[in-house]
Amino acid sequence: MILHIDKATHSSKVQQLADAYEAITIIKEDLIVLVTPSRFKSLQEEHKPFVKETFVFESDIQIASSKYMHQKRSIKIGKQSIGGTSRNVLLAIGPCSVESEDQIQKSAALLKELGLSTMRAGSFKPRTSPYTFQGMGLEGLKLLDKVRQQHGFNIITEVRDSTHVDDVIAFADIIQIGAKSMYDHGILRKCGKTHKPVLLKRGFGTNLQEFVQASEFILSGGNENVILCERGIRTFETKTRFTLDLCGAAYLKENTNLPLILDPSHAMGYAYGVPDLARACMAMDIEGLLIEVHPNPSEAQSDASQQLNHPQFRELFQSLQLIAKAVNRNII
Ligand code: PEP
Ligand code: MN
Repeated sequence: MILHIDKATHSSKVQQLADAYEAITIIKEDLIVLVTPSRFKSLQEEHKPFVKETFVFESDIQIASSKYMHQKRSIKIGKQSIGGTSRNVLLAIGPCSVESEDQIQKSAALLKELGLSTMRAGSFKPRTSPYTFQGMGLEGLKLLDKVRQQHGFNIITEVRDSTHVDDVIAFADIIQIGAKSMYDHGILRKCGKTHKPVLLKRGFGTNLQEFVQASEFILSGGNENVILCERGIRTFETKTRFTLDLCGAAYLKENTNLPLILDPSHAMGYAYGVPDLARACMAMDIEGLLIEVHPNPSEAQSDASQQLNHPQFRELFQSLQLIAKAVNRNII
């Protein structure tokens, strides 16, 4: 259950209610919110006078539920926003990893040419092998900061583990929690303590319930700015890197109030399939797309096979504009 309590309520009463229902307390500007485990389905008579509104849920998908908030949350990204009443669709592009100043400047020039606002690039990379490129670390964040200063872009970059979580939170405009870190409770809880937007990627071995429950750790920590990202799950299929779960995307659209971004690049794993998938994603009328684009993909230090080169992305961009128009979305 979620209980809304008047801000003027005495703290001892709030504590009493929180204890009675084993609740997490979130203090908002104009409201106190108690979130109980979903097994609580009703209020005791004596508590009713202290509760303004009660929301009951079937499962521990609560704050993220569309039954709690019918419209998608509005999330501010730089000067713009996604969700809410806006029809914006965030097209976040850039290389898998920050590799050099030249590469980031070339990427920045492409964003500028196309009028895009948000660059993605990882600097702390969660690789599957310790013997491959692990990212430029803080050095890479500084390079991203430079292009942000120059062009005013928003930067999406990933937090890999607890050693640098504070640096990434301080630095990023959108904090990315990767598929392999979706269950890192240290990261989830830290991200709950900031108000910066968090892009939470679905673990490739997690179901939709587990994915949305991971977002509840951030939301119940007090950060309302969570964006979900479906990026492909592992199935029996091996011809593609993962399987983009578009049924799952439809489920998330219908049942949660969190803006949704789809990532065709990591799902497909091969550049040849990314444009078609990206068009399918845009047609799903979601809040954003994450697409890996590199000035010279064959030289990329990570995810080389799936990154589009600049001419390929320019061509894709033209068709994405048409589809965005058809679904009444405005690319930002
Ligand atoms: C990435 O965005 O480069 C990345 C590592 O993605 P994922 O966590 O989805 O594998
Ligand atoms: Mn990548």
